[in-house]
Amino acid sequence: MTSAVAQERPASAPAKRGGGVRLANLVKRYGDTLAVDDLSVEVGAGEFVALLGPSGCGKSTSLRILAGLEQPDQGSVHLGDTDVTAVPAHRRDIHTVFQSYALFPHLNVADNVAFPLRQKGLGRDEIRTRVAEALALVHLPHAAGQAVTSMSGGQQQRVALARAIVDRPSVLLLDEPLSALDRSLRQAMQVELRLLQQELGVTTVLVTHDQEEALSLADRIVIMSHGKIEQVGTAEDVYDRPASLFVARFVGEQNELVTDAGLVLVRPEHVRVEEPADEAAGPNAVDGIVRGVSLAGISSVVLVHSPHHNLLARVPRDGRPLPRVGDAVRCTWDQANVRLFPTPEGES
Ligand code: ADP
Repeated sequence: MTSAVAQERPASAPAKRGGGVRLANLVKRYGDTLAVDDLSVEVGAGEFVALLGPSGCGKSTSLRILAGLEQPDQGSVHLGDTDVTAVPAHRRDIHTVFQSYALFPHLNVADNVAFPLRQKGLGRDEIRTRVAEALALVHLPHAAGQAVTSMSGGQQQRVALARAIVDRPSVLLLDEPLSALDRSLRQAMQVELRLLQQELGVTTVLVTHDQEEALSLADRIVIMSHGKIEQVGTAEDVYDRPASLFVARFVGEQNELVTDAGLVLVRPEHVRVEEPADEAAGPNAVDGIVRGVSLAGISSVVLVHSPHHNLLARVPRDGRPLPRVGDAVRCTWDQANVRLFPTPEGES
């Protein structure tokens, strides 16, 4: 993003701050599948919350219920103080951005973005002003006349975003909005999306299976499994203080050691690779042989095998020599970085 682009933004007042959202005890079945199982989530006004979980855990169904595209079997949906469970999708003050963009290929950029405003019957001048404003916000100030079919995936996603915000909804829903983009573009768009969300102050719910996206974008993350909530918290909460074994395994990387006390989890970045020592290894140490060393960006990954455990260590590239394959080493970590869970049945 350049300052030149930023200066082209219209100086009009930011959109209103959205009201909050509340999903209360939602249940949704498809035949024998319990897609959403008594789910309750509150999103504060202007807050950015991500629903994160593996494929099939009920994220999209929850989002579709919130949007009004699906009816819950039980439970209710509230926008601000209003129960909107029975209100149809087009009457809810909510806009959704889908992974597929869902743009109209036969309309140019401006007409795509103007679509929700035309639906509402706004006047031509008002539409032109609002479209220009929305396109400036997504850094496409000169794209109004372009054919959407001539645009890159990233540009099309911005047009879809502009269409979602042009009507200044109080709630913005994002269903895997960036997953069709390649990695570097996705990361750049994450930063832009976050800035845009903050600038608009719009209450936002993101659905994603990409933990990096959830951790980097959201104020709070709702981690789901089998239609239920496993944990709600900030990125630090779910990463450093996982509430369940599922969360500990799902977010980030873990080494798992089956011990008499239970399942010991320690993250690779907390494992130190040291010289072998004569005294017996204590509880937070494992002696082994280096089986692999690889470069992974700002850190290196060292794979250590011992008779009972295989360990991954992520060591900073701080100039110290790395161990070599075949070296005998001692891996150690601090007790403070250990998460202990009961060993699940069938995994001992
Ligand atoms: P996620 O978004 O986390 O991948 P979904 O909400 O799409 O999960 O799906 C949750 C469960 O409900 C899955 O088992 C899925 O197969 C099922 N499901 C979702 N939509 C339908 C549908 N329209 N008909 C039948 N089953 C569905």
